[in-house]
Amino acid sequence: MSKPNVDRAAAGRAPIHVDVLIAGAGISGIGSAYHLQQQCPGKSYAILEAKETFGGTWDTHKYPGVRSDSDLYTFGYRFKPWVGAPIASGAEILKYMGEVIEENDIGAHIHYGHRITACRWSSADNLWTIEAVRAADGATAVFTAGFLWMCQGYYDHEKPYIPDWPGLADYRGRFVHAQLWDPSTDYAGKRILVIGSGATAATVVPAFAEKAAHVTMLQRSPTYFFCSENKNELADRLREVGIDEPTVHRVVRAQIMHDQDQMTRRCQTEPDTVFEELKELIRAFSGDPNFAFEPHFTPRYRVWQQRLAFCPEGDIFKAAVQGKLSVVTDTIDRFTEKGVRTASGEEIEADIIVAATGFNLSVMGGIPFSVDGAPVDWADTVTYRGMMMTGVPNLAWVMGYFRASWTLRVDMVGDFVCNLLGHMDDIGARKVEVALRPEDAGMAILPWIEADNFNPGYLMRGLDAMPRRGDKPEWRHNQDYWAEKDAFPLIDLRGAEFVYDGQRSSPELASAVAAE
Ligand SMILES: Cc1cc2nc3c(=O)[nH]c(=O)nc-3n(C[C@H](O)[C@H](O)[C@H](O)COP(=O)(O)OP(=O)(O)OC[C@H]3O[C@@H](n4cnc5c(N)ncnc54)[C@H](O)[C@@H]3O)c2cc1C
Repeated sequence: MSKPNVDRAAAGRAPIHVDVLIAGAGISGIGSAYHLQQQCPGKSYAILEAKETFGGTWDTHKYPGVRSDSDLYTFGYRFKPWVGAPIASGAEILKYMGEVIEENDIGAHIHYGHRITACRWSSADNLWTIEAVRAADGATAVFTAGFLWMCQGYYDHEKPYIPDWPGLADYRGRFVHAQLWDPSTDYAGKRILVIGSGATAATVVPAFAEKAAHVTMLQRSPTYFFCSENKNELADRLREVGIDEPTVHRVVRAQIMHDQDQMTRRCQTEPDTVFEELKELIRAFSGDPNFAFEPHFTPRYRVWQQRLAFCPEGDIFKAAVQGKLSVVTDTIDRFTEKGVRTASGEEIEADIIVAATGFNLSVMGGIPFSVDGAPVDWADTVTYRGMMMTGVPNLAWVMGYFRASWTLRVDMVGDFVCNLLGHMDDIGARKVEVALRPEDAGMAILPWIEADNFNPGYLMRGLDAMPRRGDKPEWRHNQDYWAEKDAFPLIDLRGAEFVYDGQRSSPELASAVAAE
């Protein structure tokens, strides 16, 4: 058996040391690097990225029509104005990220083709040691860092979720998961079956419908759709009267967040009225005043319990009305040579079957972590506001929002981490941990998410591997941007939940804990 290549990579030199190591060059990692440079200019840092390029999600997904389902005024960073239409293609998002990298000289800090395979914390040295396998030569490069900023996302980029369907091997056509779609595939004139009805299906179905012979969307259950034009009237008007782009960005973000706040509240207080409004939009955009919502477009869950699929210009409904798209609401009995047979006995024949069945959750990129030699089981930890975890020092994780734009939280976590690093410098601390406070004794320790409030499949399937939460705001990631935007700036880094160099922050508290 060949030996691991660790020493050849390090080849007679010490590991590369940085103050902060960022894992991942997706939208979280690039945003975090920007904030670190701006707010902690004295800190050295590196970004390790498994892929050969930046972008994460927006590089991985290459299916036809790939685009955001959030508006880019809020999915874009707060510091870089978005100047295009609100809903952007994957290519436009990559271009925007590329500009952020270039304008801020972030590229020099990124080590592409470096897959992190181990992270070990040593309290004796107050250091993380990070091992990364280099794609170029298979060697293991070693880094050390005072602080680890995990921006590795939440799902496995290589292995999407494919249910264990009976007979899949019998199918003679082309089967692919949307996450692994090869953009050179010719689908013109083909019969395409898309399995799923979430955001990915909502994107890919109208795009396929433009060139395919016919598209069928097979869904287990219906989804809510929000149809809108792909433009923001306020942004257009502000530009027309000569307002500068940074101001347009700031004002339009405020408008969108305000409107989303109203919408979220209304989804909870008057879900039936909201559904009627969504239906009205569908009728208007599809051009069919008698559009039939039963049985394929009347969901069984409450509006907003899962992501509301955005539908620019009502494209999916237009395809349905024009006869280019059929929808089947049923479960799969089995795959056949020619397609899929449903539980009710219908056989759907297809030349290409595309699974839009979602992700496999990957907690901390599946990387083995240890603290002072003991392996970390994330399920044994409790999260501090979805950013830090008990028992794991000098580490922050960027887990964004699912209902609001993910990136809103990238900016907020960026402020928090930079404040924390600055505070540690001020008090001369080299180690910070979060720990339950005396008043948290007896607090209920619960699964990461409140399943009756928000329950996408990949989170439910992977919940056992996720950190736990408590029932107080400090100990949960509640997916509520509107609460967190007010709470985060008030975080007191001298609070009892922060333990620096093994000491509770105030002497009174230290003695209170010691006396427990
Ligand atoms: C098709 C699609 C559309 C979406 N649209 C929206 C939207 O419109 N709005 C919204 O808010 N959210 C959307 N999301 C959610 C989306 O994933 C996030 O918004 C966001 O892009 C996640 O960014 P990230 O940088 O945190 O993670 P990722 O994009 O997953 O990037 C993580 C990076 O870390 C790297 N990495 C992982 N493990 C390792 C390792 N061990 N070593 C080194 N590098 C590693 C990966 O290669 C990757 O480049 C969408 C998701 C998908 C899949």
